[in-house]
Amino acid sequence: MDQQEPYGTTGRDERAGVAATAVLAAAVDRQQAMTRFLRALVSIETPSVEPSTIEAAFDLLREGLEAAGMHCRRRSGSETAGFLLARPRRAGREELQLLLGHCDTVWPVGTLEQMPIRITDGRMHGPGVYDMKAGLTHTVFALRLLHDLGLEPQVAPVVLINADEEIGSKESERFIRRLARMANRTLVMEPSLTPSGKLKTARKGVAQYHILVKGRAAHAGLNPEQGVSAILELSILVQRLFGLNDPDRGISVNVGTIEGGLRPNVIAPESSAWVDVRAPTREDARRIDAVIRNLRPSNPEVQVEIQAAVARQPMEPTAASHSLWLAARRLAEELGFEIQEGMAGGGSDGNITCTLSPTLDGLGAVGDGAHAAHEYVDLNQMAQRTALLALLIMEPPLDPSPPTPTAGDTGSGSSRAFPPVHPTPC
Ligand SMILES: [Zn+2]
Repeated sequence: MDQQEPYGTTGRDERAGVAATAVLAAAVDRQQAMTRFLRALVSIETPSVEPSTIEAAFDLLREGLEAAGMHCRRRSGSETAGFLLARPRRAGREELQLLLGHCDTVWPVGTLEQMPIRITDGRMHGPGVYDMKAGLTHTVFALRLLHDLGLEPQVAPVVLINADEEIGSKESERFIRRLARMANRTLVMEPSLTPSGKLKTARKGVAQYHILVKGRAAHAGLNPEQGVSAILELSILVQRLFGLNDPDRGISVNVGTIEGGLRPNVIAPESSAWVDVRAPTREDARRIDAVIRNLRPSNPEVQVEIQAAVARQPMEPTAASHSLWLAARRLAEELGFEIQEGMAGGGSDGNITCTLSPTLDGLGAVGDGAHAAHEYVDLNQMAQRTALLALLIMEPPLDPSPPTPTAGDTGSGSSRAFPPVHPTPC
């Protein structure tokens, strides 16, 4: 159980006078409770695609957040488990900060049998422990220790935990947008960048395209000249797509799957491919998107249809998000550790919030193995990361000047770099 620890004699609204060491000590005191909470959360399997499994996780999170003085509301989804929203019980605060996380995982029910929860050498292993149940644990305990210490943030923390992030936040995106638009800042509790635990100040944008090539079937032996091979044409397109890779600029284009043809003795009438694109800036994303959409067949008798299936805009640093990062770095120093920043190649809900409010991502676990069998978190770093989060929550409002927009982008749908379609896993 957590101890009630009244702290200091300063006013409740003052960060000044809140010693980082006291917050860290409070987090260290809660290490065992955090480990227990995390274990309980991981023991509930929560695949995005099986909404009924997620209710028990929401119950546990609700209990944790209510113990932190938060008022919780569940909103169920139609195809997903929806989300949990928590805000301080007190009312009338105008400024808010969004604390964002997801409780769904990519792991199907039954994974625990192959990947049981285990703790060895200070590491907890288990499905979803790193992405991102440890980050949710940080959130609950950061709020709880502030509550227990009698510290009230100047900027009201509003927590949104969704259950469809791993399948693209299709249902929760509009609520995330609504809150992010109102928020002074957004803190995303996705895992940090490993192995050194960097915070994520930038994320690449992600897009996926389906390419369908239509040719004409013919007998491969009797009259091949009457056929038009969709496979030959696709092979040319595949070469051109791979040619768009630009590692120096951080642009990657991968044709991940191809299909096509009927039989060896038939000129293939149809072929198709799925393409994944990652780009660090909106400008790059727009340029690559235009190239892909304008791919034309080399053979005029072939038809090519290109559809965009996924889009997460790049998360680019702004003046305001940079000052959020600087605050995190300063607070880490106060806590006695150094922290670095980095760019993530994958997407998160931070890609949604970044144009609507200054966003800092990667505030969750230090560990490794997102979506992989070796997934783990370093338990020894949980307390200091939780303390860092607590201190960040206590920060005064950021300068309200809007994020510096990138050339022509205002964060509205019309000027997006990648096409505005609903994403799937990133
Ligand atoms: Zn995640």
